[in-house]
Amino acid sequence: MRLPTCNRLVSTVLAALCSLPALHVRAADATEPVVVYSARNEQLIKPIFDRFTAETGIPVRFTTADAAVLIERLAAEGKNSPADMLMTVDAGELWNAANRGLLRPTRSSILEANIPATLRDPGNRWVGLSQRARTIVYHPNRVDPRTLSTYEALADPVWKNRLCLRSSKKVYNQSLVAMMIKARGETATETTIRGWVANLAAPPFANDNQVMEAIAAGQCDVGIVNTYYLGRMLQKQPDFPVKVFWANQRGDGTHVNVSGAGITRHARNPAGAQKLLEWLSAGEAQRLFAGSNMEYPVNPTVEIDPLVRSWGSFTPSRINIVEAGRRQATAVRVMDRAGWR
Ligand code: FE
Repeated sequence: MRLPTCNRLVSTVLAALCSLPALHVRAADATEPVVVYSARNEQLIKPIFDRFTAETGIPVRFTTADAAVLIERLAAEGKNSPADMLMTVDAGELWNAANRGLLRPTRSSILEANIPATLRDPGNRWVGLSQRARTIVYHPNRVDPRTLSTYEALADPVWKNRLCLRSSKKVYNQSLVAMMIKARGETATETTIRGWVANLAAPPFANDNQVMEAIAAGQCDVGIVNTYYLGRMLQKQPDFPVKVFWANQRGDGTHVNVSGAGITRHARNPAGAQKLLEWLSAGEAQRLFAGSNMEYPVNPTVEIDPLVRSWGSFTPSRINIVEAGRRQATAVRVMDRAGWR
């Protein structure tokens, strides 16, 4: 809308002046849609976007795909991209997008008040919107939780042929290992992973559900998964025999990743996108965003889903989640060297 208006002004002086006031007109136009590229599933985001539109009158248009696909698309589209916001299910992907210059900084006192600093980009280009704890799970009949402590301790030979893991290709594991490298260094982390690989009861699985199903079936006794997968499983099957253990509570805390979003570099409606981001960071929107997928809200004032709450409280890692991105390439190399397929 802005460009045709400007083009009609043949005077170059006026053309130069028109871009700023035009932004104002756009910002005030409540019917201007916000366009979201989302790696988060349609079934999770559509009801929330519908609610945002009902409350604010701002329509949301979205398309869903893998984060890597959306990031390539944003990069290829450049200035012509229709996207105002990128939403992903992993901080490493948000870091990638920001690192490639695809996101813009947004200063917002609302976001700063609602979201802990460890779950936001220090450069203000993205924020976490829900926390996803990746921790140890176990079979209660075969594992005494008092014998569990840390991720690292799962490298001990006592767990030989008892551990199940998901593939190292999954970004969730890459982010976990990146944070371990930040906390303990590359050498110690590689030693841990070698121990894990030596303890595997089966080749790495394609997803977290298969890890838990293998534990339930007796193929292994312990694993590492995102807790929301267990939440979904328990909704279907309340007696599913897998329990949560909060890892590293006496040390650096349990690894949490985020599902989050940032406003694109070339957003056409940055004001609307910021409004959506701020709206998602508080109240009922936060509760729905986290609760609909059995995740943890980022906003500490928001109620946690009762089933999720039943796993008890835990201390999360205090290291900024941006490290999941910064050390991702190193993490991939370490996992590869240690033989985690
Ligand atoms: Fe997931």
